[in-house]
Amino acid sequence: MADVQTTNQSILVVGGGISGITSALEAAEAGYDVVLIEKNPYLGGRVSQLHQYFPKLCPPNCGLEINFKRMKNNPRVRFFTMAEIAGISGQEGDYDVSIKMAPRYVNEKCTCCGKCADVCETEIDNPFNFGMDKIKAAYLPQDFAFPMRYILDPSIAGTDEGKKCRDACEYGAIDLDMQETSVDLKAGAIIWATGWNPYDAAKIEYYGIDENKNVISNVMMERMTSINGPTNGKILRPSDGKEIKNIAFIQCAGSRDENHLLYCSGICCLASLKQTRYVREQYPDCDVTVFFIDIRAMDKLEDFYTMVQEDEKVRFVKSKIATITEDEETGNLVLEGEDTNTGEQIKETFEMVVLATGMAPNSISEVSSPDVSCDEYGFIANDPDKPGIYGAGCARRPTDVASCVQDATASALRAIQSIARR
Ligand SMILES: Cc1cc2nc3c(=O)[nH]c(=O)nc-3n(C[C@H](O)[C@H](O)[C@H](O)COP(=O)(O)OP(=O)(O)OC[C@H]3O[C@@H](n4cnc5c(N)ncnc54)[C@H](O)[C@@H]3O)c2cc1C
Repeated sequence: MADVQTTNQSILVVGGGISGITSALEAAEAGYDVVLIEKNPYLGGRVSQLHQYFPKLCPPNCGLEINFKRMKNNPRVRFFTMAEIAGISGQEGDYDVSIKMAPRYVNEKCTCCGKCADVCETEIDNPFNFGMDKIKAAYLPQDFAFPMRYILDPSIAGTDEGKKCRDACEYGAIDLDMQETSVDLKAGAIIWATGWNPYDAAKIEYYGIDENKNVISNVMMERMTSINGPTNGKILRPSDGKEIKNIAFIQCAGSRDENHLLYCSGICCLASLKQTRYVREQYPDCDVTVFFIDIRAMDKLEDFYTMVQEDEKVRFVKSKIATITEDEETGNLVLEGEDTNTGEQIKETFEMVVLATGMAPNSISEVSSPDVSCDEYGFIANDPDKPGIYGAGCARRPTDVASCVQDATASALRAIQSIARR
């Protein structure tokens, strides 16, 4: 990391999700040197946690794989994982950036043989699966990790457990003395593609995700249905591992709500419609109910909605569910609310519930640059009067992958124009 040579003709991209990767590749393929930094130990962002993409229901890892290949083949892109911005100063055309890198405790000699994990006894919550299962404290961050390299959890770095892992490694790949490092570099323009976080469902107290074991969020559903997820792809009740006969989806969980997220994330309806397909594929007899305020499926995506509506096992009820209560004996969930079409009270029991929580922007607070402004919700506003640092993808607004790719390409062009202008 210490030998990163950049000039004010270089572009810095912050965030290695699909948006950051796209911006980096588009700028590099147009002939600009790019440095991409990502805080996770792997690239790919939230997309790598999805089971399938709507509307085609193809696996997201295929698309990521193609982009990783483009990166490997392009020497103009250099990327660093476990890296974050420590500070930015300067202005359009001439930024000084300081970057800090957290220790991974595993170097490039790692072959992913897994012997460190074999001897490691400490387990931690698996962050990739939203804590739904445990992994060893010496682990591969995910099956399709790029770069494909293990990592040691900091909790074992200075312990006998860490030494055991190091001694088990035949390749000398574990370095327990690794420290946080920092590096300074120059950039002519910066693209901020830090994406989104799932809105914290625990804040929606009346749905009780922490107490009601069979309530999960939409992102947890993506992991549960993934073959490398906590149940190896099978949808099972978290409380008892049982198969399900009915399930409810609650739309706008914490969205369009003055106590939570005021805005619509735009994709949660499609995400739930997609997830009804996951359920119906696994359980031909399972009844699915979608409680919604209104379904937002735009343009061609409406065809997907129509297709789901034709499934007689999927029922749509216009309602905002007010409470979820768990039956302690069965683990079943009683949902109460009002049917907005008929005015009748709803009281129905389900074996499992999925909350369609929205997308909250990742913070940009570490950047004290006058060149960035955010909207009232924290998404980056690309203010034409403040050129030089540009938001891309979900850092700008919650949206789907196709729109992120378009937006990220536009941001690459904006960054190139900044450099050309100065
Ligand atoms: C339940 C659900 C299902 C979905 N399903 C689909 C679907 O089927 N099809 C579809 O098109 N879209 C889907 N989406 C939307 C899709 O996930 C987003 O469009 C996509 O993740 C946006 O990519 P991004 O790169 O902008 O952000 P992200 O994927 O969030 O990537 C941002 C990256 O930046 C990194 N980062 C954050 N902060 C920093 C920092 N300070 N420094 C360095 N790095 C940082 C993060 O670690 C991450 O890797 C779904 C969303 C949800 C909620």
